[in-house]
Amino acid sequence: MLELSTPIQYVKGVGPFRGKILKKAGIQTAEDALYRFPYRYEDREHFKKISDVKAGEEVTILGTILDCHLQTTRRKGFTIFQMLVDDGTAALKALWFNQPYLNEVFRAGQRVLLHGTVKLSYQKSFTLQLENPEYEISDENETPSIHMGRIVPIYSRITGLSVKLYRKILYHLVGELTEHIPEIIPQQISKRLGLIPKWRALKEVHFPPAKTSIDELNRFRSLAHKHLIFEEFFLLQAGLALRKRRYSPKDKGITFSINNHIREVLKKTLPFHLTPAQRKVLKEIVEDMKSPQAMNRLLQGDVGSGKTIVALLAILIAIENGYQAALMAPTEILAEQHYATIRSLLSHSSYRIALLSRGVKKEEREQIRKDIKEGKVNLVVGTHAIIQEGVYFYKLGLVVIDEQHRFGVMQRSRLIRKGEFPNVLIMTATPIPRSLALTFYGDLDISVIDQLPPGRKPITTVYKSEKSRKEVYNFIKKKISQGGQIYLVYPVVEPSEKLELKAAREMAARLKKEVFPDFKVALIHGRMKSGEKEEVMRAFTAGETDILVATTVIEEGVDVPTATVMVIEHADRFGLSQLHQLRGRIGRGDTKSYCILMADSPITPEARQRLQAIKQSSDGFYIAEKDLELRGPGEFFGTRQTGMPDLRVGNLVRDHHLLERARKEAFSYFNYLERTGRLAADPLIRFVQNNWEKRFGLKLVG
Ligand code: ADP
Ligand code: MG
Repeated sequence: MLELSTPIQYVKGVGPFRGKILKKAGIQTAEDALYRFPYRYEDREHFKKISDVKAGEEVTILGTILDCHLQTTRRKGFTIFQMLVDDGTAALKALWFNQPYLNEVFRAGQRVLLHGTVKLSYQKSFTLQLENPEYEISDENETPSIHMGRIVPIYSRITGLSVKLYRKILYHLVGELTEHIPEIIPQQISKRLGLIPKWRALKEVHFPPAKTSIDELNRFRSLAHKHLIFEEFFLLQAGLALRKRRYSPKDKGITFSINNHIREVLKKTLPFHLTPAQRKVLKEIVEDMKSPQAMNRLLQGDVGSGKTIVALLAILIAIENGYQAALMAPTEILAEQHYATIRSLLSHSSYRIALLSRGVKKEEREQIRKDIKEGKVNLVVGTHAIIQEGVYFYKLGLVVIDEQHRFGVMQRSRLIRKGEFPNVLIMTATPIPRSLALTFYGDLDISVIDQLPPGRKPITTVYKSEKSRKEVYNFIKKKISQGGQIYLVYPVVEPSEKLELKAAREMAARLKKEVFPDFKVALIHGRMKSGEKEEVMRAFTAGETDILVATTVIEEGVDVPTATVMVIEHADRFGLSQLHQLRGRIGRGDTKSYCILMADSPITPEARQRLQAIKQSSDGFYIAEKDLELRGPGEFFGTRQTGMPDLRVGNLVRDHHLLERARKEAFSYFNYLERTGRLAADPLIRFVQNNWEKRFGLKLVG
């Protein structure tokens, strides 16, 4: 009997030779083949008549080759393979460029299927034609139920196997599926969602029954798709629920309480009224802190949305409850900045706040550590090194982690290994779309500040081409003379890093000499030693420099309210989220700020869409969604991000609604098991424990 784990070579029609070819393509088992979905479907029961095709339409036609031949052209090495196909209603031309081997594949008289988008082309007159269409030769006497007379699955090609042979293997494979294929999704959930049985879903996703909507199939929305995509998300979320529980076991957290005295303290500390968005997230945080389970929460909010004050209020609650708190920043500069801000906000209090940074002398640092261990320090501010360097707390109750723009979720397991389960609040200034947050930060609860404090001056963002460079330079000069400072951002992208770094250096030198001889120009880039970088940033912050030529390192930079203009060179080469992060460096004071995007035309349509989006909006969440839409989930982070699961069939953008549903169902199922004491014995949880890490390429323990 066929099991999902049956090795592929034992599947009917495969054998050792083809087995090898399939394994090379990553298909080891029946399951691997079954979860490799067709990327599209063709209705080969109803063909479009050639006499009916129109320009711009995506069509599949079936006809007989009247004539085909290879044409050489005047351009050296450039060939065109031409074909004329007739289906009895009319004839249509098809062309393939630079595929001369097709001359051996086709001959006149054959029946062929062609699939592609119809183009209108003008040579001597207007004609319709297909260019580089997908093709399949149709044998008159082949089994009708596999390749013809039905909705047919189209798979991406496997090197070494013909399209038809692969389809035939799948046909036989699904023919052997029966009810005994085990369900992963618990029955009551399956029922609630109206899912068809899994074995049927696996069959029908490959060979859909007659009358299935071809449109739904091609949008991955058939009932078969629904089951299998939901299953993948459900499994993923069940594992995340399990992982979340490991970070905050049911009975190991701290139950903070809030009384009138604490409310009074919070009020006294606040220099302004919280925005409604800040109030909403504070409430979510306080609920977590009052609950007996440790908080594991992500606080998302654009740069300047006011996350720090919210975190500080949470810190005060911890301290007033007799616990210590730690605030960790990604860089020394940011740690110092947080320290200064908090010191001034808490200047009326008698809390002991300590800064643990490299700038602090060794003996003093030793003393601070000792005081932390003895509980004399209420709040420690520092970099992520606080937990890495083995600082011991007397009674740690809350850890706030400012991740700034870095996506990596800090190693929470280090905290837990110390036998402590403090409340953890992670702040990020990089809004990421909800569907990604649910997977990437899937074991955290999520709070969002989606509103800026009042009184911000919106940043004007414009696009300028090379022609306007002089005008841009004049604008810069004017702004500096009015007391402003300028960021000039230059891209340094991985593959050509060296060359571009050179270009950035030359740019800085040239600007200094030729364009802005009267101003102070400095350069900062990622290859500089951190001490050098800090010195450059310090000088810029202190107003000793007018223009800072920078690679993207200033993404991680500091708050310079007098920096009011940012020029981004080659803006078309930056990702949308990156542009947004960069722009967040300006508009931080009370003077109006400008972001000038420079790009050489012609720019690609995608780049145009990016620049359009960034001009249009300053809402980080809108921009993140747009970015995800344009780049797709695989590319969103730029490079592949550890922490993103390998998905076989689900797509975070396309299947967003199923992901949301799976999240809800998985977490409530998990809670139900936990409540009823059935967690350990549940087959789904066992399955997750045994398969989850390998299946998604993630770790159950961080
Ligand atoms: P984030 O850390 O989210 O980037 P900050 O916490 O640094 O933002 O806040 C940005 C600025 O806005 C700070 O100067 C802060 O004092 C101010 N701010 C925060 N919340 C409010 C508010 N509700 N009303 C007025 N100003 C606020
Ligand atoms: Mg901040």
